[in-house]
Amino acid sequence: MGKQDNEHLNIKVALQQDEIEQFRTIFLDLHPYDQALFYMELSKEERMKIYSYLSPLEVANLMEHIDLYDTEEFILEMDPRFSSAVLAEMATDDAVDVLNEMEKDKVASFLTIMDEESANEIKKLLHYEEKTAGSIMTTEYVAINKSQTVKETLEQLKRDAPEAETIYYLYVVDEDKHLVGVLSLRDLIISDEDTRIEDIMGENVVYVSVGKDQEEVAQMIRDYDFLALPVVDFRKHLLGIITVDDILDVMDEEASDDYSKLAAVDVDRPEDNP
Ligand code: ATP
Ligand code: MG
Repeated sequence: MGKQDNEHLNIKVALQQDEIEQFRTIFLDLHPYDQALFYMELSKEERMKIYSYLSPLEVANLMEHIDLYDTEEFILEMDPRFSSAVLAEMATDDAVDVLNEMEKDKVASFLTIMDEESANEIKKLLHYEEKTAGSIMTTEYVAINKSQTVKETLEQLKRDAPEAETIYYLYVVDEDKHLVGVLSLRDLIISDEDTRIEDIMGENVVYVSVGKDQEEVAQMIRDYDFLALPVVDFRKHLLGIITVDDILDVMDEEASDDYSKLAAVDVDRPEDNP
């Protein structure tokens, strides 16, 4: 029996015997993906126990490794207060994907019991049309000002990093939130502390507009080899970012769409050539 199986067995025993601390110690030591694999094997009754043993944040972390339709089902089986807290803790773009699968009334009820700040972030993203840049972007990015110094930026990063989807790129905005520059974390940490951001930022920022088709965004990320791209409105206000992991999901989605189209073509063929 492998180490993994052994651990799964130990967690299962702890769960069945209601040894909460024991369960938490072994379970939370797993990578969230492995937590998700374990969780997917559980019965509904066992999952209900998990919701009382883990915090909303801990559940949110593993949910990010579960596909959309299963996540929706799990969210709906939780106590609404707990599930709205889980949605609030998830990356906003992922929470929006889940909510977009649900009926409008359900969405509204989750948003009313959610903390206001998270609800507002989610509401901003719910409006964007499916399969556009806006529908896959997240609002958890690091934005800085061009007049600040490297030292100030490093301090800001300490505060902002826990919430950000990625800190690898820092986007520079002016007072009106127009996107005016970009630099990487690498650019930042190799620079002198007193340097101003405007002296090290790149000004030719590659960006996508919020209505751009997600497939074109995927292509751009591939072409430029960036780990993320900024998303702007028609006045070039920074609205969000799209990261590579979101693009991988898009590529999966588009591949299965193409596959269904192909299957449809096959079915039609006899009629085309009688
Ligand atoms: P390099 O490839 O130069 O060794 P790196 O591997 O650390 O750098 P990359 O992800 O390749 O990092 O980014 C390279 C450069 O591209 C960084 O200086 C970064 O500021 C810049 N960059 C990141 N995003 C954008 C963007 N959207 N538009 C223009 N430049 C960008
Ligand atoms: Mg590089």
